[in-house]
Amino acid sequence: MITKIDHLGIAVRSLDETIPYYEKTLGLKCEHREEVPAQKVRTAFFTVGEVHLELLEPTSPDSPVAKFLEKNGEGVHHVAFGTTDIVGQLKQAADSGCKLIHEIPFEGAAGKLVAFLHPKSTHGVLTEFCAPKTN
Ligand code: ZN
Repeated sequence: MITKIDHLGIAVRSLDETIPYYEKTLGLKCEHREEVPAQKVRTAFFTVGEVHLELLEPTSPDSPVAKFLEKNGEGVHHVAFGTTDIVGQLKQAADSGCKLIHEIPFEGAAGKLVAFLHPKSTHGVLTEFCAPKTN
């Protein structure tokens, strides 16, 4: 079951150039930075109420985020729904005819299990499911 919007993923060219906007202009605090080799990105996290913002900077030209930046420029990259059962959630999506990018969840940033649906099946919004690793 989806229980919340866990975070919004935002594609940026440079974390170092972007973090000051969130910290100085908006007054938020960067809580955590982490490289996620599986997705070829460096991430930085902010918290707004119960929702996190995940800034994504590509670490390689063949990173999916690099391709996104090439095509769309900086901006909202994905919406991540927190779920209590990521495997069941993927099965529900697949059973309803949705194309998946990942059939098996993998470890994303902040020690969470994550998986993405294919944007061709989600009306233009890249959709992530995420769950605590202990799930
Ligand atoms: Zn994410």
